[in-house]
Amino acid sequence: MTHTPQPKGADNPDQDQFLTILSREDALARFEAALFPRAVPSEPRSLAAALGCALAEDVVAPIDVPPFDRSNVDGFAVRSADLASVTEAAPVRLILNDEVIACGVAPVRPVLSGTATSIATGGPVPRGADAIVMVEHTQPSGMRAIEIRRAASPGQFISYAGSDIARGEALLRAGTIIGSREIGMLAACGIAQVNVARRPRVAIISTGDELVQPGQALRPAAIYDTNGAIVTAAISENGGEAHFLGAIPDDDALLEAAMRKALATSDMLVLSGGTSKGAGDVSHRIIGRLGEPGIIAHGVALKPGKPLCLAVCDGKPVIILPGFPTSAMFTFHDMIVPVLRRMAGLPLRSDAKVTARVPVRIASELGRTEFVMVSLVEGPDGLIAYPTGKGSGAITSFAQADGFLRIDALADQLPANAQTDVTLFTPHVRVPDLVIVGSHCTGLDLVTAPLAHAGLAVRSIAVGSLGGLAAAKRGECDFAPIHLFDEKTETYNTPYLTEGLELVPGWRRMQGIVFRKGDRRFEGLSAKDAVRAALADPACIMVNRNQGAGTRILIDRLLGGMRPDGYWNQPRSHNAVAAAIAQQRADWGMTIAPVAHASDLGFIPFAEEHYDFALVKARKQRPAVQAFLDALASEAGRAALERAGFRPA
Ligand code: AMP
Ligand code: MG
Repeated sequence: MTHTPQPKGADNPDQDQFLTILSREDALARFEAALFPRAVPSEPRSLAAALGCALAEDVVAPIDVPPFDRSNVDGFAVRSADLASVTEAAPVRLILNDEVIACGVAPVRPVLSGTATSIATGGPVPRGADAIVMVEHTQPSGMRAIEIRRAASPGQFISYAGSDIARGEALLRAGTIIGSREIGMLAACGIAQVNVARRPRVAIISTGDELVQPGQALRPAAIYDTNGAIVTAAISENGGEAHFLGAIPDDDALLEAAMRKALATSDMLVLSGGTSKGAGDVSHRIIGRLGEPGIIAHGVALKPGKPLCLAVCDGKPVIILPGFPTSAMFTFHDMIVPVLRRMAGLPLRSDAKVTARVPVRIASELGRTEFVMVSLVEGPDGLIAYPTGKGSGAITSFAQADGFLRIDALADQLPANAQTDVTLFTPHVRVPDLVIVGSHCTGLDLVTAPLAHAGLAVRSIAVGSLGGLAAAKRGECDFAPIHLFDEKTETYNTPYLTEGLELVPGWRRMQGIVFRKGDRRFEGLSAKDAVRAALADPACIMVNRNQGAGTRILIDRLLGGMRPDGYWNQPRSHNAVAAAIAQQRADWGMTIAPVAHASDLGFIPFAEEHYDFALVKARKQRPAVQAFLDALASEAGRAALERAGFRPA
C-alpha cells in the first residue's frame, strides 16, 4: 500500500471521500516521506535582520575572544613571583613603569622583575606580567612606586585569550534560533552577517461562500473567516513567511486559478474548508490537477480533524485543513507544524507538559486519536484537567483552555480520575486564583471584572449546575454557581447543598416567554395565556432548552406534557433561544430578561430564578474568594448587575 485513492471526479462527489482513513502516524510518515529530505534554502542576513531566524549552518569562531590576555580589574600588572614573600607587615615596593595601559592601548614596555604597570579593566596584559593586583590593594609610595601588602597568584584577574570563545570552536549550531544572546556571541566574534534558513513562503487561502473578512459587515447566514487569521498567525509563529490571500468562494474555476497563482510564488499552500463530503467542497478535487504525486492522505483518524487532506504537488506541500476552526488548529499544530518547521530549518517544537487528573470520564471514539482541550485548576491533590471543548466548531474553547490531552486511537475512553499528560499551550501553567465551575451567567462576568482588573486569574468553567455541584463536593473549585429548583420544597438551591458547602446568595434572573415584538399572538398576554395561544396555533414553532437546564423545568411546567412543533429543538444556551426567535426559526421560547432585551425581543415575565453560589467552605479564607465575595456585595457590583437586568439578592 503506497497510495490513497485519487479523486474520481466531480460527477460522483460522495464516493471519492475517506475510502481509506489513515492513522495519524501513517499519514504523517507518508507526508514526510514525500517531502524530505530536501535542502533548506538559505540566505545571508545582517545580525539585526537575523533575529528570530534559524541558522542555516554551524558558525565556527573566527577569532579568540578575548583576542588577547586581558585585565579584569583596574590595578597594576605585576610578576606574581615578586610578591611571593609579601605579608601585611612586610610589604613589597614595586617601581612603576612609564606607561598606563588604558582600554584599546597596546602596551609597549615589558614588566621586569621589581616593576609594575598601571592597567585599566579591559587593558591588554603587558609582556612579562602574569597577574593583576587590584588598585584597592596597593598604596602609592612616592611618585613612581607602589607598595603591596598581599600576595598574588599567577593568572589572578586575567582573562586569557580565547578563554571565552576559542578560535575554531563551534560557536552556534545550525537550527539555533537567533535571539539577542546569539547576536551577542556573533558580534563578539566580529561576525556581521550569517546564513539563515530562508523562511518558507506559505500562501493561505480560506474557502467557502459563507466567509466574510473581519472588519466587514456580516450578511445573513454568513460567518467571519476565522481560519485565515489563525493559520496566518500560526505559520508566522512556526518560521513561515505567511501570505494570506483571502477567502475564495466554493467555485471550481475561481479556486483553481487562485491555487495555481498561490503555488507559483510559494513554497507551501494551506487552505481550509471544502474538504468534507459536501457537494460544494471542491478544493481537494482541484489538487489532483496541480502536480504530482497529488493527494497523500485524505481522511486521517484524528478527532477533531478527520477530513484533513495532505498533498504534495511538484515537491510543494498543499494542505487542506478542516473548516471548523478548532479542527483546523489541532490538525495544523499536530500534522503541519512539524513539516513547516523542518522546511524552515527549525528544530521540532518542544511543548511543555504537565501531569493532571481528569475529574470525569471522557468518552472517545475508538480508532481515532482524540485531542481534548482542558482547563487546569488546582485540586486537593494536584492539578485537575477539566475538558472545556464545546465541539469542533467552537473557537472559545481554545482561549479558555490551558492545553490539551490526547486519547489514544485504541482507547474508547479516559476513565474518571485517570492521570494524564497535558500539553500546554503556553510554556507555563498559571493556576487560576479563583475557580468557578457550574452554570454560566453573563452576570458572573460583571462580578468578576474587578478581580480580573486587579490581576487575579479567574477561571470559570461552564458545566451546568449539577456538574458544578459535583465539582464543589470534590473540592475542585471555589464556587459552583447553581440555579436548581426543588419541586418538593418549591425552593431554589438550598436543598441541594451538602456537608462542606455554604450558600452565597447571588442574584435573581427573570425567566419569561420571548417572542418577536409585534407578534399579535403573544402581545399583552400572561405567560400561561401566551403558551396556550401558541399551542392553539399549529403554525407556531417553539424553541426548547436542553434536559437538565433550569429553564427547561419551567418550560415543561408550562407545557403540561404537550409536545408542540419545535419541542425537540433543544439548544444549550439562552442566547441560542433568542437567536432562533430573532431569525424566525422559531416563534417563542423561554429565556432570561437581559438576553431577550439584548436581542430586542418581546418578553413576558414568568418566574424569578435564583442564581446562587455553592461555596466550598474549606476555601473561604482564600484571598480571591474574599475578593469575589466583596465584589458581589459591593455597590458597584450590584449596580452593574441591575443595569444588565439582574436583581441582586
Ligand atoms: P467545510 O469543511 O468547508 O464544509 O466547513 C466546515 C465548517 O467550518 C462549516 O461550518 C464552515 O462554515 C466552517 N468554516 C469553514 N471555513 C471557515 C473559516 N475560514 N472560518 C470559520 N469557519 C469556517
Ligand atoms: Mg466550506
